[in-house]
Amino acid sequence: MRTAVELKAVSKHYSDTVALDDVDLRVGEGETVAVLGPNGAGKTTLLSIALGLLGPSSGAARVFGRTPVEALHAGEVGVLLQDSGLLEDVRVEELVAAVAGMYPHPHPVKAAMRAVDVAELATRRIGRLSGGQQQRVRFALALVGDPKLLVLDEPTVGLDIESRRALWQEVRARTAEGRTVVFATHYLAEADDYADRVVLLAGGKIVADGPVSTIKSLVGGMEVRFVFDGADASGLETLPGVRQVRIEGRAVTLHTDDSDATLRALFATFDDFRNVRTMSTDLENAVVSLTGGAGR
Ligand code: ADP
Repeated sequence: MRTAVELKAVSKHYSDTVALDDVDLRVGEGETVAVLGPNGAGKTTLLSIALGLLGPSSGAARVFGRTPVEALHAGEVGVLLQDSGLLEDVRVEELVAAVAGMYPHPHPVKAAMRAVDVAELATRRIGRLSGGQQQRVRFALALVGDPKLLVLDEPTVGLDIESRRALWQEVRARTAEGRTVVFATHYLAEADDYADRVVLLAGGKIVADGPVSTIKSLVGGMEVRFVFDGADASGLETLPGVRQVRIEGRAVTLHTDDSDATLRALFATFDDFRNVRTMSTDLENAVVSLTGGAGR
């Protein structure tokens, strides 16, 4: 498989913040990769470096074997960035046409607008659009050049369910044609539904990288939480299903693969506990358990 994106030992520092810490990543052509992680994990920084919008403090990025800026100028990359400014006084169709003109083999402008449901906004000024409509325009700008690589930073932020579905349908159509897609999200479900590979980022480091099923088995377990009043918490870690025990003061969290078995054994073995609750592991907690707390 040809390499679409490659980061080699990339670090990025902002004064005393380490946004990315020695990241190695290779994305093959045709892959759909979700960069998943909590806020502040370094997702936007990673995508910005892959796009050449930010220079790394150390290390290097390549896109289709060139520098990211060369790839961008060659029209190989389509971009949707969070909160990227759009020219407010320009009309939608003018903007989409202007961006199409920057690519060697763009889609027809009207077709690109229809595909993401902005055709009816063609003559409206960007500044008059709602947040969700502007996000759809950003997506049209990412697609219109028919790029080999799509880089999307939290593409569905601000979109209603219908627009989300339309967006992912378009992304899928592109991947079916062999295009490469790298998108950032902090929703495990979005990664699950649309990516064939997940790169889990926390505290500027890749803490897991693999097919969605692997990541889900790492982060998809259950938690059993309770208040423990007993003197001796030893033995909790050997209850059936338990993978990890976290104790903060009297608050205990058991990370388990089988919450039913864990609960049965808990009730049979211990009695000094109260307020038992079970819940699915959320991303933040999964990151804590995968990194031993390195997630911000
Ligand atoms: P994410 O996209 O996962 O939310 P970011 O890449 O935006 O994460 O940020 C990673 C870390 O770098 C955060 O701690 C953030 O506060 C910091 N950071 C990002 N951009 C800047 C900047 N321009 N100046 C200083 N710190 C920044």
